[in-house]
Amino acid sequence: MTVAEQLDSVVDRVASAARRAGREPDSVQLVAVSKTFPVEVIRAVIASGQRVFGENRVQEAQQKWPQLKAETAGIELHLIGPLQSNKTADAVALFDVIETVDREKIARVLSEETKRQGRSLRFYVQVNTGLEPQKAGIAPDETVKFVHLCTQELGMTVEGLMCIPPAAENPGPHFALLAKLADECGLRKLSMGMSGEFETAIEFGATSVRVGSAIFGTR
Ligand SMILES: *Cc1c(COP(=O)(O)O)cnc(C)c1O
Repeated sequence: MTVAEQLDSVVDRVASAARRAGREPDSVQLVAVSKTFPVEVIRAVIASGQRVFGENRVQEAQQKWPQLKAETAGIELHLIGPLQSNKTADAVALFDVIETVDREKIARVLSEETKRQGRSLRFYVQVNTGLEPQKAGIAPDETVKFVHLCTQELGMTVEGLMCIPPAAENPGPHFALLAKLADECGLRKLSMGMSGEFETAIEFGATSVRVGSAIFGTR
């Protein structure tokens, strides 16, 4: 299958999963994760109508996206990987949504930099639902307080929560926990589910799924 056909198939599967969950297909946003793939391949996916993309590294995105954004109006680029403070200015200049806000220091720098550049970025707070030591994200029991800091004190537009469940576990309970935490924070958006489990995530209320290999192929 071509990437265009694979994209079509994922779009169909997202819509079917939404209907099975009693939801409108357009209540789930598909973020096409293009990390490691070159601009020519991404162009084919843009030509098929996809406009929302995710990258996990600032430097790689800087090499690919200024040109792709200049070619096509309406591209929305999400940062889905960890952010270092020395890359914040670049990230704020290029990305439209940053999904990986996970600590106070980075939140403060992002807030300042967004104001300094006059950008209107949207943010997600990443939650480490499995409390994995090697994984980024705020602890579940600190999430409400942290979201409050970001919105009330720092004036950030936090749209929702994001998680990456432990690879070896059943993701359902992690998706359920993220949904519960978002509810407690008064947030409506949930970025959860990748190629292997986006249909399950939609069942648990995902409003955004981040799908890479099912569209682009194996990395
Ligand atoms: C790479 C990545 C994805 C996409 O993973 P696939 O299994 O290729 O769909 C989603 N979310 C994050 C945070 C990623 O780094």
